[in-house]
Amino acid sequence: MNCKDELHEECGVVGIYGVEHAARVAFMALQSLQHRGQQGCGIAAVDADGSIRIHKEAGLVKDVFGEDELSGLEGRSCIGHVRYPTTKVGGRENLQPFGITGKIGRFALAHNGNIVNAEEVKLAMESHGHLFSSTSDSELFGHLIGVGPVSLGWAANIGHAANQLDGAYATVVLTENALYACRDKYGFRPLSLGRLGDGYIVASETCALSLVGAEFIRDVEPGELLVIDADGVHSHHFSTERKHRMCSMEYIYFARPDSVIEGCSVHVFRKRSGALLYQECPTEADLVTYVPESGMSAAIGYSEAGKIPLQMGLLKNMYVARTFIQPTQAMRNLGVRMKLSPMRSIVNGKRVVVVDDSIVRGTTSKQLVQMLRDAGAKEVHMRIASPKYAWPCYYGIDTGTRDQLIAAQMSEQEICDFIGADSLYYLSEEALFKASERTELCTACFGGGYPTDLYGYSEEKE
Ligand code: AMP
Ligand code: SF4
Repeated sequence: MNCKDELHEECGVVGIYGVEHAARVAFMALQSLQHRGQQGCGIAAVDADGSIRIHKEAGLVKDVFGEDELSGLEGRSCIGHVRYPTTKVGGRENLQPFGITGKIGRFALAHNGNIVNAEEVKLAMESHGHLFSSTSDSELFGHLIGVGPVSLGWAANIGHAANQLDGAYATVVLTENALYACRDKYGFRPLSLGRLGDGYIVASETCALSLVGAEFIRDVEPGELLVIDADGVHSHHFSTERKHRMCSMEYIYFARPDSVIEGCSVHVFRKRSGALLYQECPTEADLVTYVPESGMSAAIGYSEAGKIPLQMGLLKNMYVARTFIQPTQAMRNLGVRMKLSPMRSIVNGKRVVVVDDSIVRGTTSKQLVQMLRDAGAKEVHMRIASPKYAWPCYYGIDTGTRDQLIAAQMSEQEICDFIGADSLYYLSEEALFKASERTELCTACFGGGYPTDLYGYSEEKE
């Protein structure tokens, strides 16, 4: 298998410093980040004698950590991770945090994102005799830190490692005496800092801070390395080239609606994008409904803007696995039907607008249009709160290759015919900037303008 196919990871990270029972707090925080990854999870904690202990397993946070596991992770600092399931890599060896012993000492590392020059850096390191046990970017990051000169100290070594890696990462590193947190220089993935009692917490999303009762301080800046130790929080900038290319899919789909990313509430972003969706394409209908839960906030905005009643036209069965990760198309089709049921009493005889956050392969839309028609809907109009998703993401959101993306293969009219809707409209790219009140975002999966060099990945572009 091409190594480049294996490096997609969508995850969540947390780091805690100076808080009693840190691992128990991380256990709670990780549960609020569970939407970012359900394949597996782990926590690494520093115990009273300074050793780093790690527990990680496949499964949900609530199943992986019981009293036995948490009582083995005592201490006042820790890092934690949830990992997304992809059909490509399921190996336990890729679960995080990683424990690494380098020249500089022992540490643990957890990371969210995807490093685009990983293969180049890895090959260079292997040619110098370094061995890797996993396909993970995190192990590579860890190795780079581990081989750095001891005399430079931790912060300089972590900054130096970060500078050699291109792509998307929000990374936490735990040593005996400190917690380090850094974001790539483009700022693709979110990472926020909060105060928790006398200590600190960093997490991929602010919903984790809120859950554990932490007070939000600020976001970690692109290209910034925070050092959190007994003297407090210190900021270092490891890169002078800094951009604010936050992943627009974080706002559109990935993050939880109660999180705030770089000053913009995810729910507010989605509501505004729903209102813009109506303004860009006003449609006459009897009711607006949504694909639960991802289309809900945008549907609220659409309904308010169009003064069309919002109704629960589709019901979600919360106990089935996510359809997106089923390996075959037939299983994905069945999966949608297991996950969503139409409400006949609501849609029968009605002109229905359905709002969803995105169309990737087209499976969900096609199935649900048919289900709504079967339940008696007179008209079904699909409204998508994002532009056409036509380019693969190389920064950690796994949506498959270009040939799997329906918008890369078909025109808007062809997609409309394929999903069987009466009409279809995608939000403009401009609306994403309006909804987030930002001038910079990554929108590469919509327009193909990748903010980084793509190294070997560019061969897969066409
Ligand atoms: P599809 O059925 O392949 O068109 O996928 C579209 C659905 O998957 C939408 O309802 C989204 O909420 C969801 N979705 C979008 N991006 C992703 C992703 N990267 N991983 C998992 N689900 C996604
Ligand atoms: Fe996000 Fe799309 Fe950019 Fe990937 S390419 S980081 S999914 S906006």
